Order: sequence, then C-alpha cells, then structure tokens
Amino acid sequence: MNVNHHPSEALLLDYVSGTLGETWSLGIATHLALCPTCRRTVDVLEAMGGDLLENISPAEMSGDAAARMMARIDVSDDAQNKTGLPTLQLSKSHILPQPLLSYLGKDLADLKWQRLGMGAFQSLIQTQEKDVTARLLRIPAGKPVPEHTHRGLELTLILSGEFSDATGTYKRGDLQEADETLGHHPCAGKDKDCVCLAITDAPLRFRSLAARIVQPMLGI
Ligand SMILES: [Zn+2]
Repeated sequence: MNVNHHPSEALLLDYVSGTLGETWSLGIATHLALCPTCRRTVDVLEAMGGDLLENISPAEMSGDAAARMMARIDVSDDAQNKTGLPTLQLSKSHILPQPLLSYLGKDLADLKWQRLGMGAFQSLIQTQEKDVTARLLRIPAGKPVPEHTHRGLELTLILSGEFSDATGTYKRGDLQEADETLGHHPCAGKDKDCVCLAITDAPLRFRSLAARIVQPMLGI
C-alpha cells in the first residue's frame, strides 16, 4: 500500500504533544495505522521527548523542522524493520483499521447509516467534542460529492476505494487536509464505492442550492 498524502507537520506535532483534540486525534491515529512514513515521523518526534517540545518555540518548529530532525536522527528502513512496526489489525470488513474500530466498537455493517442523497450515506461518530464532527461517508463508485468550500478545517481519510479532485487522487490511507482556501468537487473512483472518515470543525459551504437546502437536515 502506497500512501501519498499525509497530514501536515503541524498536525503531527500537535498529535505527539497531546494538544490535538480527541476527534482530530482519531483521524491522525487512523492514518498512522495505515502509514509507515508518518509512524516513523511520530516515533522520531516522540523520541525527542516532552522537554524538547516544551522548550522549542512555535516559530522554530515551522517549515520543514520535523524533516530536518529526521535527517539528524538517521532512522533507516532497515533499522525500522528490525524494531518491527505494529501489525495492522483490521475489522472483518477489512476496511476499518484498529484505532477506528476500537473507537466505534463495531464494524461498518453494524453502524447506523443515514441517506445523504445521490446514493451516498453517512454515519455520524459520537465523540466528546461538540465543535468538531466526525463521520464515515460512503460515496457510490463514480459519483461526485457536491462541490463545496470550507469554513474551517476538514480532514478526509480514505479507507476504501478512492476519490479525486483538482488536487489529485486519494486512495486508502491518504489523508487530505482542506481549509478555507480549498474549494473542491471530489468524485469517487469508478470501480468501487469510496468509504472515508471525514472530520470537520465547521459546516461545509456548498455551491449548489439543492445541497444547501438539505444541508441543515443532514448536519453537514
Ligand atoms: Zn502519512
């Protein structure tokens, strides 16, 4: 499995330092289960220790700081293999990685799915946070999600199938981090339904009137 789209360094640092909220952390932990590259980055950041993180100002951690740290601490693939990466445990559906499966306490087929129209479904994930929403989305093969922009941050982690927009194609394990600057019109790949975990901290801003009308009823 080749993961090509990763969370930003800022999100990984927040995750490691424990300042990232529960819902965003669920997205990052699920990405980590599927992404050896980011697990390696997180290992390096964790190894640096809490003291170091506390003593570095945010300005010094900007840019390619984590990349430079990794260059200093040479973690070759061989060394990584010797330490043994955790085996990926999956649900019966082979779609939900362990962090998400434990959080939900059930597999895809046992979740409550709500119809979104155009053959798409969502399943809202209960978290302790009120201002951040997590949901699983099932978008039928070849079908688009209505074109939208964002008022806040949106993380989309692909769990099955794929979707494409102007920024590229996203497959299992790929994570898209979108904010107010990205307006997009994602479309599921034509061969398979796309299942993804989407986390948002503000309602999406749809371009089409029809989508805007149903939006409040669906809570998206
Ligand atoms: Zn990654």
